[in-house]
Amino acid sequence: MDTEEAWTPEAEAAAVKEPPKIHRLEESVVNRIAAGEVIQRPVSAVKELVENSLDADATSINVVVKDGGLKLIQVSDDGHGIRYEDLPILCERHTTSKLSKYEDLQSIKSMGFRGEALASMTYVGHVTVTTITKGHLHGYRVSYRDGVMESEPKACAAVKGTQIMVENLFYNMIARRKTLQNSSDDYTKIVDLLSRMAIHHTNVSFSCRKHGAARADVHSIATSSRLDSIRTVYGVSVASNLVQLEASEYNDSSSFVFKMDGYVSNSNYVAKKTTMVLFVNDRLVECAPLKRAVEIVYAATFPKASKPFIYMSIVLPPEHVDVNVHPTKREVSLLNQELIVEKIQSAVELKLRQSNDSRTYKEQTVESSPSSPYNPSKDLHLNPSGSKLQKVPVNKMVRTDSSDPAGRLHAYVQSKPHTSVASGPNLSAVRSSVRQRRNLNETADLTSIQELIDDVDRNCHSGLLDIVRHCSFIGMADDVYALLQHNTHMYLANVVSLSKELMYQLVLRRFAHFNAIQLSDPAPLSELLMLALKEEDLDVENSENDDLKEKIAEMNTELLKQKAEMLEEYFCVKIDTRGNLSRLPIILDQYTPDMDRIPEFVLCLGNDVDWEDEKCCFQAIAAALGNFYAMHPPLLPNPSGEGLQCYKKRKPLKNPVDIERYPNDAGMAIHPREVIV
Ligand code: ADP
Ligand code: MG
Repeated sequence: MDTEEAWTPEAEAAAVKEPPKIHRLEESVVNRIAAGEVIQRPVSAVKELVENSLDADATSINVVVKDGGLKLIQVSDDGHGIRYEDLPILCERHTTSKLSKYEDLQSIKSMGFRGEALASMTYVGHVTVTTITKGHLHGYRVSYRDGVMESEPKACAAVKGTQIMVENLFYNMIARRKTLQNSSDDYTKIVDLLSRMAIHHTNVSFSCRKHGAARADVHSIATSSRLDSIRTVYGVSVASNLVQLEASEYNDSSSFVFKMDGYVSNSNYVAKKTTMVLFVNDRLVECAPLKRAVEIVYAATFPKASKPFIYMSIVLPPEHVDVNVHPTKREVSLLNQELIVEKIQSAVELKLRQSNDSRTYKEQTVESSPSSPYNPSKDLHLNPSGSKLQKVPVNKMVRTDSSDPAGRLHAYVQSKPHTSVASGPNLSAVRSSVRQRRNLNETADLTSIQELIDDVDRNCHSGLLDIVRHCSFIGMADDVYALLQHNTHMYLANVVSLSKELMYQLVLRRFAHFNAIQLSDPAPLSELLMLALKEEDLDVENSENDDLKEKIAEMNTELLKQKAEMLEEYFCVKIDTRGNLSRLPIILDQYTPDMDRIPEFVLCLGNDVDWEDEKCCFQAIAAALGNFYAMHPPLLPNPSGEGLQCYKKRKPLKNPVDIERYPNDAGMAIHPREVIV
């Protein structure tokens, strides 16, 4: 073992110590690496070329693509063309006509400024430019490789503007070419890009077609109407289901922080994926936080959980946009981003609520909840449907969504809501009352409600939201916990807490726009309060005398009678002049709460609401309704009857904020248990 080649620790140490030699990369390699970053896929080349055409004031841009862009991308425009003298340096790196000093970046209005795009294309493909400028009889054609002209420009016949051809893209980047060859969606991406460009730049006509195809896949004509161009590009089904939207913010010196105008889809629009077409200072960009903020509004507002179509154009003072954070300029970071996102989110929310309210709906029939098969309080029999059913005038129709019985619950939980065991005319059905919608403007913009909604949205945990939204319901684990699956995890979700939170949020979002459940026999508040007070006593085994209870009941009745107008107007809780409860709101379409819980609810209103402070007051009433309407055990019939003890009705709390409702209440009710898949 003492041969010369034998391994020794010393020999290895010597080998490791020897540092590798650093050498300069060849410029062509450097350029190719850089070019690969700017031009990531064929669609990035198309975007750069189209942006150049727009910068050249083109009014018509035509794109032809072969093999998803790998064989050929050809973009022709009718812009101002390129000067003959500029052709030699046109495709060198960092040659641009749009920027000369760093400060220009602050006020840049054009799409380009780095002078990198054309150069990059010549490092990863073969570029040929044909161009003619105004006042010249002929144009020039010249091809480029690695940033330089292959030969002198040749005179040629040309139509107004510039045509740039990129052939054999990524011919010298084997790995990228292979991955792209196998993916068929590059042409789709190009069509998508041009569709987006077309609906923003309505004064430019765009077309895009596959090489050799007679028909164009995008074909827009210059028009003055945004909606017309959306119709041409995305079709009638999209354009006819949009509502217009505006938002803006000015600061003290009355200079603007941002202005936004756009279109968003209404509740008739159905799609599995969000389409968000966002332009910031005319630049097509992405902004994930804004997209998420708008999606949240849709999930919470519409029953079908459809994803939205969004077109927005935001204008900011140019110095507020850093266009330089992304090599392809695809993402931008905005000054005041949080404020802008929040403002736009509220604008969308208001718009959706308005558009939702302007629809008419058919009358709704609500099945009684099987969790209350009998009703101990004889005053609370609900109006059975049947002989009393009358023809309803259109202006008195109430809203319902018959195609989606779970209604808005969809936006929160995918598990099946608590539904009736059977349905049919012989079940004692509950007829909702018929009520005319109120004038939205009178009430809907109370800022305290908006603040409460904002609080909810701000405290929303995106991870938990995702679980709740995309889980599958497996079954009930016991009286309280539902078993849910999300990806490869199983979760136990506390349905009581979840539904409480759901109801609370729905009360806020439907504020002042409830339809009603009519009680056939109005229930005297004083009796309800007595029932609740007695029950409370059983819990705490503290027997106060009945006189005192009657006094409390009487005082609370008077208090609630005084507040009756507000309770009815905003929450659809109707108390008549004689102190009888006669109406309750529909919080979730086709869901009736457990009527056994009315006494507790009324006591909660009497005891726990701070009537002085508007926000606290609304919050406490919403929370009381949330507690009342939540699904309480037994959610499913449980033969043994066990497991109920710990969920006995709670004694109402003295402080309204202590009412069981915290933004994370629902979240904390979810405990990851085990991975089973
Ligand atoms: P940038 O757009 O950042 O300036 P590019 O490499 O995309 O850099 O383009 C370099 C220059 O070529 C532009 O500044 C512009 O002057 C000119 N150019 C490119 N495309 C066109 C076109 N379609 N019409 C007129 N000029 C063009
Ligand atoms: Mg450019």
